[in-house]
Amino acid sequence: MSITASADNSYAETKTQTPAKVKRQKKTVTSSYLKTLQQIHALTVGLVSCLGFVIAVALLLAGNTLSPIEIGTYLALTVVIGIGTTAGFHRHFTHKSFQAAMPVRVVLAVLGSMAAQGPLIFWVALHRLHHEHSDRPGDPHSPHFHGKGFFGMLRGLWHAHFAWTIDYDAPNATYYANDLLRDKVLSKVSQMYFLWVFLGFLIPTVAGGFLRGSWTGAFYGFLWGGLVRLFFWHNMVWCITSVAHVFGSRPLESHDMSTNNFLLAIPTLGESWHNNHHAFPNSAMAGLKWWQIDPTGWVIRALEKVGLVWDLKTPTARMMEAKTRSA
Ligand SMILES: [Zn+2]
Ligand SMILES: [Zn+2]
Repeated sequence: MSITASADNSYAETKTQTPAKVKRQKKTVTSSYLKTLQQIHALTVGLVSCLGFVIAVALLLAGNTLSPIEIGTYLALTVVIGIGTTAGFHRHFTHKSFQAAMPVRVVLAVLGSMAAQGPLIFWVALHRLHHEHSDRPGDPHSPHFHGKGFFGMLRGLWHAHFAWTIDYDAPNATYYANDLLRDKVLSKVSQMYFLWVFLGFLIPTVAGGFLRGSWTGAFYGFLWGGLVRLFFWHNMVWCITSVAHVFGSRPLESHDMSTNNFLLAIPTLGESWHNNHHAFPNSAMAGLKWWQIDPTGWVIRALEKVGLVWDLKTPTARMMEAKTRSA
């Protein structure tokens, strides 16, 4: 069953808190301790994944060839963990674009956590903050406030791609993600974040070692299914915050500079139809035309077919027409 999407960008929880109390809450948390933790996390993930990528390329240049095991491990982990981020963290938990049974929610939350982009509740709160302030003051990763001209654009892209991760005010989860904080199971999954990140490395390492029957196999599993996967997927998600707010088309009115980017559709699993997404944030489908490749949307549709998810929100033709910019 499909239900109608909307363009609602308000995430403050008003069901269990009075509007006055919600209004009093700060939207971000100013804490030097928290900021230091964020910086350590961001720099560790950035440096370790870069190092892994450099080692992998150096080994290839030195003559090491990849077996189908490494390629398979890399692709499987990237897609499965990627879907955890896109269908789980993003479309389900942040935007409530479809309903799912608790076991499915837990699986999506664990897979998304393996991407090492922060605990579930933190990620959701941060992304809701982005939508509320998209390309306006308060947006943690807009590429549009860093000067004019070519170099201003480059500075903006660098900020929106990586630099923001080491210097932004953390979102107040009580304000932005109270729905998840009140959920005991998902709060627990969120608190166990580092275990899931560890599993995201352990699984490809064990798989590589087992399938090749050697420690070398375990090393290659760790390298390709762990570090290179981490490098690639982080860069794809960062391309959405940087490239997909600068380059591409803007067919729909979305009150920001988000774009649809065809070239990034497959590697981002459909997330690069970002102008569509900002126009209809709680649509389960980011690809809104038949030719807009949206692997995440296809997975959600497949899960709906087997009854694991339901109530997919999608915009009607009339809603899309109303938001279509005149040429
Ligand atoms: Zn955006
Ligand atoms: Zn979003």
